[in-house]
Amino acid sequence: MLTRTAAATLCALALAAARAHAQQGPGSQGIRIKDGEECPAGTTEIRPRLCQAPELPPPSIVDYRPRSTLVTAEHPVPRAKYPAIDFHGHPRGSWLESQDSLGWLGSALDAINVRVMVVANDVTGDALRREVAGVRASPAMKDRVRILAGIDFRNVGPGWAKKAIEQLDADVAAGAVGVGEISKDLGLSIMKADGTRLRIDDPALDPVWAECARLRIPVFIHTADPEEFWQPIDYHNERWLELALFPRRRYPPGEFPSFEELMTERDNMLRRNPKTTFVIAHMGWHANDLARLGKLLDAMPNVYTEVGAVLYDIGRQPRAAHDFFVRYQDRILFGKDSFQPEEYPYYWRVFETRDDYFDYYRPYHAFWKLYGIDLPDEVLKKVYYRNALRITPGLPGDRAP
Ligand SMILES: [Zn+2]
Repeated sequence: MLTRTAAATLCALALAAARAHAQQGPGSQGIRIKDGEECPAGTTEIRPRLCQAPELPPPSIVDYRPRSTLVTAEHPVPRAKYPAIDFHGHPRGSWLESQDSLGWLGSALDAINVRVMVVANDVTGDALRREVAGVRASPAMKDRVRILAGIDFRNVGPGWAKKAIEQLDADVAAGAVGVGEISKDLGLSIMKADGTRLRIDDPALDPVWAECARLRIPVFIHTADPEEFWQPIDYHNERWLELALFPRRRYPPGEFPSFEELMTERDNMLRRNPKTTFVIAHMGWHANDLARLGKLLDAMPNVYTEVGAVLYDIGRQPRAAHDFFVRYQDRILFGKDSFQPEEYPYYWRVFETRDDYFDYYRPYHAFWKLYGIDLPDEVLKKVYYRNALRITPGLPGDRAP
Protein backbone atom coordinates (compact mmCIF):
# COMPACT_ATOMS: atom_id res chain seq x y z
CA MET A 1 0.00 0.00 0.00
CA LEU A 2 1.25 3.49 -0.78
CA THR A 3 1.85 5.94 2.01
CA ARG A 4 -0.03 9.17 1.87
CA THR A 5 3.12 11.17 0.91
CA ALA A 6 4.05 8.73 -1.81
CA ALA A 7 0.56 8.93 -3.22
CA ALA A 8 0.71 12.70 -3.17
CA THR A 9 4.07 12.67 -4.92
CA LEU A 10 2.78 10.31 -7.58
CA CYS A 11 -0.23 12.49 -8.02
CA ALA A 12 1.93 15.59 -8.45
CA LEU A 13 4.12 13.76 -10.95
CA ALA A 14 1.11 12.64 -12.92
CA LEU A 15 -0.17 16.20 -12.98
CA ALA A 16 3.16 17.53 -14.20
CA ALA A 17 3.27 14.85 -16.89
CA ALA A 18 -0.23 15.66 -17.96
CA ARG A 19 0.65 19.31 -18.13
CA ALA A 20 3.74 18.59 -20.21
CA HIS A 21 1.63 16.40 -22.47
CA ALA A 22 -0.93 19.14 -22.88
CA GLN A 23 1.84 21.57 -23.77
CA GLN A 24 3.63 19.33 -26.24
CA GLY A 25 1.10 16.68 -27.14
CA PRO A 26 -1.86 16.48 -29.47
CA GLY A 27 -3.23 19.86 -28.39
CA SER A 28 -0.10 21.65 -29.47
CA GLN A 29 -1.81 23.04 -32.54
CA GLY A 30 -3.98 25.04 -30.06
CA ILE A 31 -3.21 28.44 -28.69
CA ARG A 32 -1.56 28.73 -25.31
CA ILE A 33 -2.58 31.42 -22.88
CA LYS A 34 -1.21 32.50 -19.52
CA ASP A 35 -3.00 32.17 -16.20
CA GLY A 36 -5.80 34.70 -16.03
CA GLU A 37 -5.87 35.29 -19.78
CA GLU A 38 -8.86 34.59 -21.94
CA CYS A 39 -8.85 32.42 -25.03
CA PRO A 40 -8.81 34.49 -28.23
CA ALA A 41 -12.10 35.02 -30.05
CA GLY A 42 -13.29 31.98 -31.92
CA THR A 43 -11.53 29.51 -29.61
CA THR A 44 -12.39 27.79 -26.34
CA GLU A 45 -10.28 26.45 -23.47
CA ILE A 46 -10.07 22.71 -24.03
CA ARG A 47 -7.45 22.04 -21.35
CA PRO A 48 -6.01 24.42 -18.76
CA ARG A 49 -4.45 27.36 -20.63
CA LEU A 50 -4.90 25.71 -24.02
CA CYS A 51 -7.40 27.12 -26.47
CA GLN A 52 -8.67 25.58 -29.67
CA ALA A 53 -11.03 26.62 -32.43
CA PRO A 54 -13.87 24.22 -33.28
CA GLU A 55 -13.43 22.40 -36.56
CA LEU A 56 -17.03 23.11 -37.55
CA PRO A 57 -18.22 26.69 -37.89
CA PRO A 58 -19.77 27.66 -34.54
CA PRO A 59 -23.45 28.70 -34.58
CA SER A 60 -24.43 32.18 -33.54
CA ILE A 61 -26.04 32.49 -30.09
CA VAL A 62 -29.47 32.90 -31.62
CA ASP A 63 -29.15 29.61 -33.45
CA TYR A 64 -27.63 27.49 -30.70
CA ARG A 65 -30.62 25.81 -29.05
CA PRO A 66 -29.37 22.61 -27.45
CA ARG A 67 -31.90 19.99 -26.40
CA SER A 68 -31.54 19.25 -22.69
CA THR A 69 -30.94 15.56 -22.08
CA LEU A 70 -31.65 15.89 -18.37
CA VAL A 71 -34.31 13.44 -17.27
CA THR A 72 -35.87 14.62 -14.04
CA ALA A 73 -39.24 15.21 -12.40
CA GLU A 74 -41.27 17.94 -14.07
CA HIS A 75 -44.20 19.73 -12.45
CA PRO A 76 -45.65 22.36 -14.75
CA VAL A 77 -48.03 24.70 -12.92
CA PRO A 78 -50.62 26.11 -15.34
CA ARG A 79 -52.62 27.83 -12.57
CA ALA A 80 -51.35 29.60 -9.47
CA LYS A 81 -51.95 27.60 -6.29
CA TYR A 82 -53.80 30.56 -4.74
CA PRO A 83 -55.76 33.25 -6.58
CA ALA A 84 -53.16 35.87 -7.39
CA ILE A 85 -53.23 39.62 -7.71
CA ASP A 86 -51.09 40.81 -10.59
CA PHE A 87 -49.80 44.14 -9.32
CA HIS A 88 -47.99 44.91 -12.57
CA GLY A 89 -50.67 44.53 -15.22
CA HIS A 90 -50.34 45.98 -18.69
CA PRO A 91 -53.52 45.02 -20.54
CA ARG A 92 -54.34 47.31 -23.42
CA GLY A 93 -56.34 50.23 -22.07
CA SER A 94 -58.91 49.77 -24.83
CA TRP A 95 -59.70 46.27 -23.51
CA LEU A 96 -61.13 47.83 -20.38
CA GLU A 97 -63.60 49.88 -22.38
CA SER A 98 -65.01 46.96 -24.33
CA GLN A 99 -67.21 44.34 -22.67
CA ASP A 100 -66.07 41.71 -25.19
CA SER A 101 -62.41 42.33 -24.46
CA LEU A 102 -63.07 42.35 -20.71
CA GLY A 103 -64.77 38.99 -21.07
CA TRP A 104 -61.75 37.67 -22.93
CA LEU A 105 -59.45 39.10 -20.24
CA GLY A 106 -61.54 37.38 -17.56
CA SER A 107 -61.20 33.97 -19.16
CA ALA A 108 -57.48 34.50 -19.74
CA LEU A 109 -57.05 35.37 -16.05
CA ASP A 110 -59.19 32.40 -14.96
CA ALA A 111 -56.99 30.01 -16.90
CA ILE A 112 -53.91 31.07 -14.90
CA ASN A 113 -55.74 31.79 -11.61
CA VAL A 114 -55.12 35.51 -11.50
CA ARG A 115 -58.03 36.88 -9.52
CA VAL A 116 -57.33 40.60 -9.79
CA MET A 117 -55.32 42.58 -12.29
CA VAL A 118 -53.92 45.92 -11.21
CA VAL A 119 -53.58 48.02 -14.33
CA ALA A 120 -50.30 49.93 -14.19
CA ASN A 121 -50.58 51.82 -17.46
CA ASP A 122 -49.86 55.31 -16.14
CA VAL A 123 -53.24 56.75 -17.19
CA THR A 124 -54.97 59.81 -15.83
CA GLY A 125 -57.95 62.08 -16.42
CA ASP A 126 -60.52 61.13 -19.04
CA ALA A 127 -58.73 57.94 -20.14
CA LEU A 128 -58.71 56.70 -16.55
CA ARG A 129 -62.38 57.59 -16.14
CA ARG A 130 -63.35 55.69 -19.29
CA GLU A 131 -61.43 52.62 -18.16
CA VAL A 132 -62.94 52.68 -14.66
CA ALA A 133 -66.40 53.05 -16.21
CA GLY A 134 -65.78 50.09 -18.53
CA VAL A 135 -64.73 47.88 -15.64
CA ARG A 136 -67.62 48.97 -13.43
CA ALA A 137 -70.08 48.19 -16.21
CA SER A 138 -68.97 44.55 -16.28
CA PRO A 139 -70.72 42.39 -13.66
CA ALA A 140 -68.09 39.68 -14.14
CA MET A 141 -65.03 41.94 -14.03
CA LYS A 142 -65.97 44.81 -11.74
CA ASP A 143 -64.16 43.17 -8.83
CA ARG A 144 -61.30 41.81 -10.88
CA VAL A 145 -59.62 44.89 -12.30
CA ARG A 146 -58.30 47.98 -10.51
CA ILE A 147 -56.46 50.87 -12.06
CA LEU A 148 -53.48 52.95 -10.96
CA ALA A 149 -53.28 56.65 -11.77
CA GLY A 150 -50.51 58.22 -13.77
CA ILE A 151 -48.66 61.40 -12.86
CA ASP A 152 -47.37 63.78 -15.49
CA PHE A 153 -43.82 64.65 -14.42
CA ARG A 154 -43.06 66.86 -17.38
CA ASN A 155 -42.22 70.52 -16.80
CA VAL A 156 -41.86 70.39 -13.05
CA GLY A 157 -41.49 73.97 -11.86
CA PRO A 158 -43.40 76.56 -9.85
CA GLY A 159 -47.04 75.51 -9.40
CA TRP A 160 -46.47 71.97 -10.66
CA ALA A 161 -47.12 70.12 -7.39
CA LYS A 162 -50.42 71.86 -6.75
CA LYS A 163 -51.72 70.90 -10.21
CA ALA A 164 -50.42 67.35 -9.92
CA ILE A 165 -52.11 66.92 -6.54
CA GLU A 166 -55.42 68.22 -7.88
CA GLN A 167 -55.24 65.76 -10.75
CA LEU A 168 -54.28 62.90 -8.43
CA ASP A 169 -57.13 63.67 -6.05
CA ALA A 170 -59.54 63.70 -8.99
CA ASP A 171 -58.17 60.40 -10.32
CA VAL A 172 -58.47 58.73 -6.92
CA ALA A 173 -61.99 60.09 -6.54
CA ALA A 174 -62.71 58.56 -9.96
CA GLY A 175 -61.55 55.14 -8.74
CA ALA A 176 -57.77 54.87 -9.01
CA VAL A 177 -56.33 52.74 -6.18
CA GLY A 178 -52.70 53.83 -6.39
CA VAL A 179 -50.11 55.54 -8.56
CA GLY A 180 -48.19 53.85 -11.32
CA GLU A 181 -46.44 52.56 -13.03
CA ILE A 182 -44.16 55.57 -12.80
CA SER A 183 -41.93 54.97 -15.78
CA LYS A 184 -38.17 54.84 -15.93
CA ASP A 185 -38.34 58.11 -17.87
CA LEU A 186 -38.43 59.71 -14.44
CA GLY A 187 -34.73 60.02 -13.80
CA LEU A 188 -33.57 58.95 -17.24
CA SER A 189 -35.02 61.56 -19.53
CA ILE A 190 -37.81 63.77 -18.18
CA MET A 191 -36.86 67.46 -18.06
CA LYS A 192 -37.94 70.19 -15.71
CA ALA A 193 -39.48 73.46 -16.83
CA ASP A 194 -36.03 75.07 -16.51
CA GLY A 195 -34.56 72.58 -19.00
CA THR A 196 -32.56 70.51 -16.50
CA ARG A 197 -33.07 66.79 -15.89
CA LEU A 198 -35.71 66.00 -13.30
CA ARG A 199 -33.99 64.04 -10.56
CA ILE A 200 -36.03 61.32 -8.88
CA ASP A 201 -35.25 62.90 -5.51
CA ASP A 202 -36.17 66.43 -6.58
CA PRO A 203 -37.83 68.04 -3.53
CA ALA A 204 -40.46 69.56 -5.84
CA LEU A 205 -42.03 66.07 -6.01
CA ASP A 206 -42.28 65.62 -2.24
CA PRO A 207 -45.74 67.21 -1.87
CA VAL A 208 -47.11 64.64 -4.32
CA TRP A 209 -45.56 61.73 -2.39
CA ALA A 210 -47.03 63.23 0.79
CA GLU A 211 -50.44 63.36 -0.86
CA CYS A 212 -50.16 59.65 -1.70
CA ALA A 213 -49.51 58.97 1.98
CA ARG A 214 -52.52 61.07 2.96
CA LEU A 215 -54.71 59.21 0.46
CA ARG A 216 -53.27 55.87 1.70
CA ILE A 217 -52.42 54.75 -1.81
CA PRO A 218 -49.25 52.91 -2.85
CA VAL A 219 -46.85 54.31 -5.43
CA PHE A 220 -45.61 51.76 -7.95
CA ILE A 221 -42.36 52.96 -9.48
CA HIS A 222 -39.95 51.63 -12.07
CA THR A 223 -36.49 53.18 -11.89
CA ALA A 224 -33.62 52.55 -14.32
CA ASP A 225 -33.14 49.17 -15.99
CA PRO A 226 -30.83 46.17 -15.57
CA GLU A 227 -27.34 47.40 -14.78
CA GLU A 228 -25.92 45.62 -17.83
CA PHE A 229 -27.73 48.13 -20.02
CA TRP A 230 -25.11 50.68 -18.95
CA GLN A 231 -22.16 48.37 -19.63
CA PRO A 232 -20.24 48.03 -22.88
CA ILE A 233 -22.12 45.84 -25.37
CA ASP A 234 -19.39 43.25 -25.66
CA TYR A 235 -19.35 39.48 -25.36
CA HIS A 236 -19.04 39.70 -21.58
CA ASN A 237 -22.35 41.48 -21.25
CA GLU A 238 -25.08 39.10 -19.95
CA ARG A 239 -27.67 41.08 -21.88
CA TRP A 240 -25.78 41.28 -25.17
CA LEU A 241 -28.66 39.78 -27.12
CA GLU A 242 -31.27 42.07 -25.61
CA LEU A 243 -29.10 45.11 -26.22
CA ALA A 244 -28.46 44.00 -29.77
CA LEU A 245 -32.20 43.55 -30.33
CA PHE A 246 -33.44 46.76 -28.69
CA PRO A 247 -31.41 49.91 -29.32
CA ARG A 248 -33.52 51.98 -26.92
CA ARG A 249 -32.29 49.89 -23.99
CA ARG A 250 -28.71 51.07 -24.48
CA TYR A 251 -27.52 53.77 -22.10
CA PRO A 252 -24.12 54.90 -23.34
CA PRO A 253 -22.11 56.84 -20.76
CA GLY A 254 -22.46 60.59 -21.02
CA GLU A 255 -25.92 60.47 -22.59
CA PHE A 256 -27.73 59.22 -19.49
CA PRO A 257 -27.27 59.33 -15.73
CA SER A 258 -25.46 56.23 -14.53
CA PHE A 259 -27.21 53.25 -12.96
CA GLU A 260 -25.78 54.14 -9.56
CA GLU A 261 -26.85 57.78 -9.83
CA LEU A 262 -30.41 56.64 -10.48
CA MET A 263 -30.32 54.15 -7.59
CA THR A 264 -29.02 56.86 -5.27
CA GLU A 265 -31.74 59.30 -6.32
CA ARG A 266 -34.43 56.64 -5.94
CA ASP A 267 -33.20 55.64 -2.50
CA ASN A 268 -32.97 59.28 -1.37
CA MET A 269 -36.58 59.76 -2.44
CA LEU A 270 -37.76 56.57 -0.69
CA ARG A 271 -35.91 57.52 2.49
CA ARG A 272 -37.16 61.09 2.56
CA ASN A 273 -40.82 60.03 2.31
CA PRO A 274 -41.19 57.37 5.01
CA LYS A 275 -44.96 57.78 5.33
CA THR A 276 -45.54 56.97 1.66
CA THR A 277 -45.78 53.33 0.60
CA PHE A 278 -43.63 52.60 -2.42
CA VAL A 279 -43.52 49.42 -4.47
CA ILE A 280 -40.30 49.31 -6.45
CA ALA A 281 -40.93 47.38 -9.66
CA HIS A 282 -38.69 44.59 -10.98
CA MET A 283 -37.18 44.00 -7.52
CA GLY A 284 -35.56 47.39 -7.93
CA TRP A 285 -33.21 45.78 -10.51
CA HIS A 286 -31.41 44.16 -7.61
CA ALA A 287 -32.70 40.61 -8.14
CA ASN A 288 -29.13 39.77 -9.17
CA ASP A 289 -27.91 41.11 -5.80
CA LEU A 290 -30.45 40.08 -3.20
CA ALA A 291 -28.26 41.19 -0.30
CA ARG A 292 -28.42 44.73 -1.66
CA LEU A 293 -32.20 44.57 -2.01
CA GLY A 294 -32.44 43.13 1.51
CA LYS A 295 -30.44 46.04 2.91
CA LEU A 296 -32.75 48.50 1.17
CA LEU A 297 -35.85 46.77 2.56
CA ASP A 298 -34.29 46.61 6.04
CA ALA A 299 -33.50 50.32 5.99
CA MET A 300 -36.88 51.46 4.64
CA PRO A 301 -40.01 49.83 6.05
CA ASN A 302 -42.19 51.89 3.67
CA VAL A 303 -40.78 50.06 0.65
CA TYR A 304 -42.14 46.91 -1.01
CA THR A 305 -40.97 45.22 -4.13
CA GLU A 306 -42.45 43.38 -7.08
CA VAL A 307 -41.14 40.52 -9.18
CA GLY A 308 -42.20 41.42 -12.75
CA ALA A 309 -39.82 40.49 -15.56
CA VAL A 310 -36.94 39.41 -13.29
CA LEU A 311 -37.87 35.74 -13.00
CA TYR A 312 -34.59 34.87 -14.73
CA ASP A 313 -32.67 36.13 -11.69
CA ILE A 314 -34.96 34.52 -9.12
CA GLY A 315 -34.90 31.16 -10.87
CA ARG A 316 -31.14 30.97 -11.29
CA GLN A 317 -30.43 31.13 -7.54
CA PRO A 318 -33.08 28.86 -6.06
CA ARG A 319 -31.58 28.52 -2.59
CA ALA A 320 -30.72 32.18 -2.07
CA ALA A 321 -34.05 33.27 -3.58
CA HIS A 322 -35.97 30.84 -1.38
CA ASP A 323 -34.32 32.28 1.72
CA PHE A 324 -34.86 35.84 0.53
CA PHE A 325 -38.56 35.30 -0.14
CA VAL A 326 -39.02 33.66 3.24
CA ARG A 327 -37.18 36.45 5.04
CA TYR A 328 -38.94 39.28 3.19
CA GLN A 329 -42.28 37.49 2.77
CA ASP A 330 -44.20 40.58 3.93
CA ARG A 331 -42.51 42.87 1.42
CA ILE A 332 -42.80 41.12 -1.95
CA LEU A 333 -45.72 41.40 -4.40
CA PHE A 334 -46.45 39.31 -7.44
CA GLY A 335 -46.54 41.20 -10.72
CA LYS A 336 -45.96 40.06 -14.27
CA ASP A 337 -45.46 43.14 -16.50
CA SER A 338 -46.02 42.43 -20.23
CA PHE A 339 -49.40 40.69 -20.49
CA GLN A 340 -48.78 37.33 -22.12
CA PRO A 341 -51.04 34.82 -20.37
CA GLU A 342 -48.92 31.85 -21.41
CA GLU A 343 -45.90 33.26 -19.54
CA TYR A 344 -47.44 33.33 -16.05
CA PRO A 345 -47.07 29.56 -15.49
CA TYR A 346 -43.28 30.00 -15.50
CA TYR A 347 -43.66 32.19 -12.43
CA TRP A 348 -45.92 29.65 -10.69
CA ARG A 349 -43.46 26.88 -11.43
CA VAL A 350 -40.49 28.84 -10.05
CA PHE A 351 -42.38 29.87 -6.91
CA GLU A 352 -44.23 26.63 -6.19
CA THR A 353 -41.97 23.74 -7.22
CA ARG A 354 -38.48 22.40 -6.66
CA ASP A 355 -38.08 21.48 -10.30
CA ASP A 356 -34.61 21.63 -11.79
CA TYR A 357 -33.28 23.20 -14.94
CA PHE A 358 -36.32 24.18 -16.94
CA ASP A 359 -36.81 26.64 -19.75
CA TYR A 360 -37.47 30.31 -19.24
CA TYR A 361 -39.89 32.08 -21.56
CA ARG A 362 -37.70 34.79 -23.01
CA PRO A 363 -34.32 33.78 -24.39
CA TYR A 364 -33.09 37.34 -24.82
CA HIS A 365 -33.41 37.99 -21.07
CA ALA A 366 -31.44 34.93 -20.11
CA PHE A 367 -29.51 32.19 -21.85
CA TRP A 368 -29.78 29.98 -18.75
CA LYS A 369 -32.43 27.72 -17.25
CA LEU A 370 -34.57 28.13 -14.15
CA TYR A 371 -35.03 26.19 -10.92
CA GLY A 372 -37.99 26.13 -8.55
CA ILE A 373 -37.60 27.96 -5.25
CA ASP A 374 -40.26 25.92 -3.48
CA LEU A 375 -41.97 28.57 -1.34
CA PRO A 376 -44.07 27.50 1.65
CA ASP A 377 -47.83 28.05 1.30
CA GLU A 378 -47.91 30.92 3.78
CA VAL A 379 -45.26 32.79 1.81
CA LEU A 380 -47.02 32.08 -1.48
CA LYS A 381 -50.25 33.54 -0.16
CA LYS A 382 -48.51 36.72 0.93
CA VAL A 383 -46.63 37.16 -2.33
CA TYR A 384 -49.62 36.24 -4.47
CA TYR A 385 -52.22 38.46 -2.82
CA ARG A 386 -52.03 39.24 0.89
CA ASN A 387 -49.30 41.87 0.68
CA ALA A 388 -51.03 43.64 -2.20
CA LEU A 389 -54.30 43.70 -0.26
CA ARG A 390 -52.60 44.99 2.88
CA ILE A 391 -50.95 47.99 1.22
CA THR A 392 -53.76 48.83 -1.21
CA PRO A 393 -57.04 49.62 0.54
CA GLY A 394 -58.80 49.99 -2.82
CA LEU A 395 -58.22 46.39 -3.91
CA PRO A 396 -61.11 43.95 -3.63
CA GLY A 397 -60.37 40.70 -1.82
CA ASP A 398 -60.61 38.74 1.38
CA ARG A 399 -58.41 40.40 4.01
CA ALA A 400 -59.13 37.82 6.69
CA PRO A 401 -55.91 36.39 8.08
ZN1 LIG B 1 -44.50 47.88 -16.33
